[in-house]
Amino acid sequence: MSFDRYRKQTLFAPIGQAGQQAIASTRVLLVGCGALGSVIAESLTRAGIGLLKIVDRDFVDLSNLQRQVLFDEADVAAHRPKAIAAAERLGRINTQVQIQPHVADVTPDNILSLVHGCDLILDGTDNFETRFLINDAALETNTPWVSGGVLGASGQVFLVVPGQTACLRCLLAEQPPQTETCDTAGVLGPAVNIIASLQVMKALQWICRGDAPPNTKMTVVDAWEGSFQQIDLKPLKDQANCPACEHGERSWLRGERGNRSLILCGRNAVQISPAEPSSLDLQALAETWEPLGETRPNPFLLWFQPRDFPGLEIHLFRDGRAIIKGTEDLAHAKSIYARYLGN
Ligand SMILES: [Zn+2]
Repeated sequence: MSFDRYRKQTLFAPIGQAGQQAIASTRVLLVGCGALGSVIAESLTRAGIGLLKIVDRDFVDLSNLQRQVLFDEADVAAHRPKAIAAAERLGRINTQVQIQPHVADVTPDNILSLVHGCDLILDGTDNFETRFLINDAALETNTPWVSGGVLGASGQVFLVVPGQTACLRCLLAEQPPQTETCDTAGVLGPAVNIIASLQVMKALQWICRGDAPPNTKMTVVDAWEGSFQQIDLKPLKDQANCPACEHGERSWLRGERGNRSLILCGRNAVQISPAEPSSLDLQALAETWEPLGETRPNPFLLWFQPRDFPGLEIHLFRDGRAIIKGTEDLAHAKSIYARYLGN
């Protein structure tokens, strides 16, 4: 494979030809392709990563376009799943990169098979539950991951290398309560771009490390103030006596924690997941629902606006999962789901 197109990158001494070779042979799992994920996916694709597996459970919404740089209004109009819209765009950016989109919620049931065959995981999620699940899966499979989080204009980034650096549970014993979310605090596009870029930087640094030890520093950014802080997490790892990375506890991976049905942050929407994934015939369902409201199927999901519930939009995925827009009432959303799809 010719690396000519990466000349500006290989000229950078810590990468060089050897680093480019390493980048081209690295397989990355990106969990979540929203704001952080868009920037991560684009940067890794342009940098010439070997394989990029993109998992996202959501479809493109108009309110995403303020910061989710891979998407446009045509994606919104078509109710296109983010993973699919991202893969189409990325495929036009760099045909040397293998892109694998997966329209799915990352759960204890599928995360190990998603991680399988990947060398590195990038966190593009917007919630702690999925991050703890990623942490468990990373420790279980001995796969490094790069965590990133952003709220308002602030955020933080760190690399987890199982056995060598602090893990998420060394930092946080429990899932913190969501006192503030992007729903209340908002989130700025430039802050997202900075945090995601730092995640990609840590990823490239890890891929091109050679014999160097992993970076154990968490970078904390306040993009509004323009301040950057580096906090070394190594002492934390040494003192934490961590249930996950020292004692092998995998509560999220075993499904003992976490909840599949949830309110989606800042979206006025709720996700409902069936206990068992199914394989729905969306076209047939669209015909069944035709008399009940407006239906618009695409190959990945069925958009349905029920006449009985004006203001609600149901986005039903093939695996039986639905995102119900127009409510943040979990019980109400579950009853709507049950009405059209059974329990
Ligand atoms: Zn730990």
